[in-house]
Amino acid sequence: MKIELLKADITEINVDAIVNAANTSLFGGGGVDGAIHRKGGKVILEECIQIRNRQGGCKTGEAVITNAGNLPSKFVIHTVGPVWNGDKEEKSKLLADCYENSLNLAVENGIKIIAFPNISTGIYHFPKDKAAEIAIKTVKDFDKSSQIDKVIFVCFDDENYEIYKEILENHE
Ligand code: ADP
Repeated sequence: MKIELLKADITEINVDAIVNAANTSLFGGGGVDGAIHRKGGKVILEECIQIRNRQGGCKTGEAVITNAGNLPSKFVIHTVGPVWNGDKEEKSKLLADCYENSLNLAVENGIKIIAFPNISTGIYHFPKDKAAEIAIKTVKDFDKSSQIDKVIFVCFDDENYEIYKEILENHE
């Protein structure tokens, strides 16, 4: 598995699957979630509603998959990051679950190239450096990594990009 770092808008990335930092309702929201639903069109929301009717949304740390509507990628994997409050250790575990469950869903769906945003580091206020360490460690430790060709970390803001760059270059 290769790891790549990009500074970009994830809605413009052409890969097998992009990951969405969704919320438990799966009804769309602000940040990257809003951008994905806006550009992807209502077919994504329709599938989210079906999932919600079937299983009642998506719990924090878990992931579900839909089509990608008008986006260049084939699928969107929606995962719900933890809000940074309360038990910090529990929140860190839940953030790792987001990456791991998204990767498992990718493997189950034959997805070879997957792009992640910086889950929970926007509206959910997870500290960016801690979130980046968890994201990179969880991806590197993924037990089925041979079944994924490439993971792309897509940073939208300079601060996250610099944090990821530092960790990926200096802590190999
Ligand atoms: P959360 O609620 O999980 O914190 P946010 O969407 O608020 O989710 O933020 C998660 C990360 O996604 C933030 O680092 C934010 O800068 C980034 N982000 C926002 N819009 C985009 C986009 N279009 N492409 C990639 N990343 C984005």
